[in-house]
Amino acid sequence: MTAPHTYITTTIPYVNARPHIGHALEFVQADVLARFRRQRGDRVRFQAGTDDNSLKNVLAAQEAGESVREFVDRNAEAFVALGPALSLTVDDVIRTSRDARHRPGVERFWRACAAAGDLYRKRYEGLYCTGCEQFYSPAELPAGRCPEHGTEPQRVAEENWFFRLSRYGDRLRAAITDGELRIEPAGRRNEVLAFIDGGLEDFSVSRPAARAGGWGIPVPGDPGQVIYVWFDALCNYVTALGYGTGDDAYQQWWAGAGRRVHLLGKGVLRFHAVYWPAMLLSSGQPLPTDIVVHDYLTAGGRKISKSSGSAADPAALAAEYGTDAVRWWLLREVPRVGDADFTVERMTARADDELANGLGNLVNRVIAMIGQYRDGRVPGAAAVPAGGADLAAACGQASERAGAALAEFDFREATAAVWAIADEANRFINRVRPWDLARAERGGDITAGRRLDGVLSALFGACVELGADLEPFLPDAAARITRQCTPRDGRLPDPAPVFRRLGATRLSRPVRVPEGSGTGE
Ligand SMILES: [Zn+2]
Repeated sequence: MTAPHTYITTTIPYVNARPHIGHALEFVQADVLARFRRQRGDRVRFQAGTDDNSLKNVLAAQEAGESVREFVDRNAEAFVALGPALSLTVDDVIRTSRDARHRPGVERFWRACAAAGDLYRKRYEGLYCTGCEQFYSPAELPAGRCPEHGTEPQRVAEENWFFRLSRYGDRLRAAITDGELRIEPAGRRNEVLAFIDGGLEDFSVSRPAARAGGWGIPVPGDPGQVIYVWFDALCNYVTALGYGTGDDAYQQWWAGAGRRVHLLGKGVLRFHAVYWPAMLLSSGQPLPTDIVVHDYLTAGGRKISKSSGSAADPAALAAEYGTDAVRWWLLREVPRVGDADFTVERMTARADDELANGLGNLVNRVIAMIGQYRDGRVPGAAAVPAGGADLAAACGQASERAGAALAEFDFREATAAVWAIADEANRFINRVRPWDLARAERGGDITAGRRLDGVLSALFGACVELGADLEPFLPDAAARITRQCTPRDGRLPDPAPVFRRLGATRLSRPVRVPEGSGTGE
């Protein structure tokens, strides 16, 4: 029997600017899911990429006075560099403008939709937001302005290819209501159902090549048109698996996978939960099993926009404060529903309180006490010591509780389950006062000595459990804890700090908060 296959993707961001902390949220969430499933024996592929073929990239490059190729390559590199900066276990990165797997896959996808009778040419006039790369109906534009960008859309009249989305309303609705396509949280699922119930209209899937500046993939058999960037970008989830190049990976990770999980921000929900599943149905492919939607982060109370400045650059934050602090803030403070506000002060306060003072201090004390009272030799496991029932329960339940929370994509609840071990262990230490037991033992009290063995053994067990359970969330810290808990020649190493305190640290460069609004994607 082979292990279940789980395919986990993040959205492929436009590369019209450098990454911001909002991107880090999605990457870290995906990484936690990937690491957790791997830890439990699943086979996992964590797929990421960059959306190079956007008209936005063309415009941003022109504004910067650079060639589109150089501009796109440089920003794409900054996204790829987030992998090591945030300790992400990304298995593969696809870049839509230069990856040999992409174009043949998009072309095959297009032909499959055409063969299903779902593509046709039509003259169209509408209001187009370049920031969104999307047409809007007047009803969707409060005061005539884009809801994402606050800018006035352009009136565009052109002949384009259209996709028959109108055909798929009933099948999409059925897939979502019968659980074939799960959308979390429930509020987002309801939003999608309401959109479907409002009636689906066919949407334009190509642009005149001239307006796209020649950037993009030509429509097969109609080189005067390029494929709409959203059609092109959504295909990445299967082109990265070799959908167009006959790769086995496609069968393994898409057609035959147990789970196909997309993570995305609320601003691109409609594309992923309506357009993309309809495209898959049209071309005869299975739907994703899970669509997980996160809300947006603000920075210092203001909307983050990568097109308006380098807001809270995650790689710079990780370099300055450590990967653990960045990951912990994203996982511990960002709620499952609702926006969260990032500030460096909140991140460092959280890290100092829970990581340095809570976790780090615990491991340090336990290793130091075993060194001092037992010459670094871990006492043999005894029964749960008196007063240790809560700690034993926290240790015993953490993994299962975290698993149940992650099945609901609730990262705060999952980290809370693991955090409970450190919390209970610190409480246990303060209650049983091992130093008093050690003093009594030195005074000849054999019972106190035996109790101390039980206490140290339970505390050591908690540290080992933390090393294992933290791995999906804080892989670097988990490795340091495990190292502290690994005896050499029967003795534990000398205690070393697991975390440094960040309170006194200051960024060498200030983290800028951007002006104005943006996509937040
Ligand atoms: Zn817009």
